[in-house]
Amino acid sequence: MKANAQIAAERIVERLRAEGFDAYFAGGCVRDLLLGQAPVDFDVATSARPEIVLDLFPRTFAVGAHFGVVLVADEIQGEQIVTEVATFRNDGSYSDGRRPDRVSFSTDAREDVLRRDFTINGMLLDPMVLEEGDDPEKATLDYVGGRADLAAGLVRAIGDPERRFKEDKLRMLRAVRFAARFGFVIEPATASAIRCHAAEISQVSDERVRDELTRMLTEGHARRAFELLDETGLLKQVLPEIDRLHGVEQPPEYHPEGDVWVHTLLLLEKLPAGASSTLAWGALLHDVGKSATFERAPDRIRFHGHVEVGSRIAAEICRRLRFSNEETAQVLALIENHMRFGDVMRMKESTLKRFLRLPKFAEHLELHRMDCLSSHGDLSLYHFAKERYETIPEEAVRPRLLVTGADLIAAGYAPGPSFKEMLSLAEDAQLEGRIQTTEEGLELVRSVFSRT
Ligand code: ATP
Ligand code: MG
Repeated sequence: MKANAQIAAERIVERLRAEGFDAYFAGGCVRDLLLGQAPVDFDVATSARPEIVLDLFPRTFAVGAHFGVVLVADEIQGEQIVTEVATFRNDGSYSDGRRPDRVSFSTDAREDVLRRDFTINGMLLDPMVLEEGDDPEKATLDYVGGRADLAAGLVRAIGDPERRFKEDKLRMLRAVRFAARFGFVIEPATASAIRCHAAEISQVSDERVRDELTRMLTEGHARRAFELLDETGLLKQVLPEIDRLHGVEQPPEYHPEGDVWVHTLLLLEKLPAGASSTLAWGALLHDVGKSATFERAPDRIRFHGHVEVGSRIAAEICRRLRFSNEETAQVLALIENHMRFGDVMRMKESTLKRFLRLPKFAEHLELHRMDCLSSHGDLSLYHFAKERYETIPEEAVRPRLLVTGADLIAAGYAPGPSFKEMLSLAEDAQLEGRIQTTEEGLELVRSVFSRT
């Protein structure tokens, strides 16, 4: 069945054609239709100038007026759909390696295709000649050999790859992302241009680099993406800390799989499409402290303090890539707690409950599971923790506290630095089932702390 987004885009094309303009589906949606995959969104390219598009449709938003991009909103079967309608354009010269100095609008579809990044992203489709069930091939306009590259599984820059990457450095990361997503090869001249210009990726803003990396990590092909980043020399530029995990040996009894890089790739391989970005970054960074703490001790290889060092390195990466405070906190928590599963069977009940209380504990569990499956393969601690997480009721893990600050004050204690200790003494006893009432809690506090 046709998606509502496709119906909305078809209506727009139809309307523009009725007014005498040229209009097509363009870019990623054509690629996906030809691959038999459902496009996430449908973009329309047209010869109509933005002010005309704004005039023709009742609900529009001029988002990238400068680039000729207008959003057209519509409602199909109760679903709100927003379609990007972009005027054919020629991007002219680029002097900052990020965006064109000025764009000129065009009435030539072919010119619009030539400014796009890769041949597989450079096709147009005429939905007006397509009947339900038709092969989309017959409606495709392909000026750049996109169909042949789709069939051959190649990500190839449109035009001269050197020039195209010089214009916009972000395209280097996009090449890797699309190759990983579709299991394609980066065409040799395109790959060699990336290797040649990899260092210039530093001209792209940190946020855009972060967003590309996050997409690579969460589209279900993270391992391939990181292998390609490595092969193209981009990894060294964008995440030198991960590049340093190459060749960091590990004790074979715990890590039969190999060095820390190999171990990390095995985790990335297990990240499903749609994985949360914090889990994905946590998986990527969980052992990032191992290269700086590697030590060949007399008994075996050790990584003393790798969790603390890793957390500091990850904090620096999150700062550099401008993660939000909330995301940073979760990524660091995943790293800081990943070794604690080793103690989970020995933990006091209160310690275990506090552990299970970590925000988004399910992500900690999942990271531990991937970590085990990417090394020794023993999931006994995972199953133990998961069982406790699922069976201990919420009110036992986060009970209403029997002893609060107000209770301490009422019992004659003056608020001060030792309050925190008193409260956690009582809370531990409560979590372990040693006290059942406020009075018992206060008695316990009295047995340890005198009132002064
Ligand atoms: P996705 O499925 O990830 O959205 P997409 O191909 O739709 O893939 P978008 O980033 O949505 O990619 O961009 C839409 C289209 O715009 C691309 O298919 C491509 O033709 C063009 N495009 C996007 N970014 C660039 C760029 N940096 N340089 C040149 N063309 C680009
Ligand atoms: Mg898209």
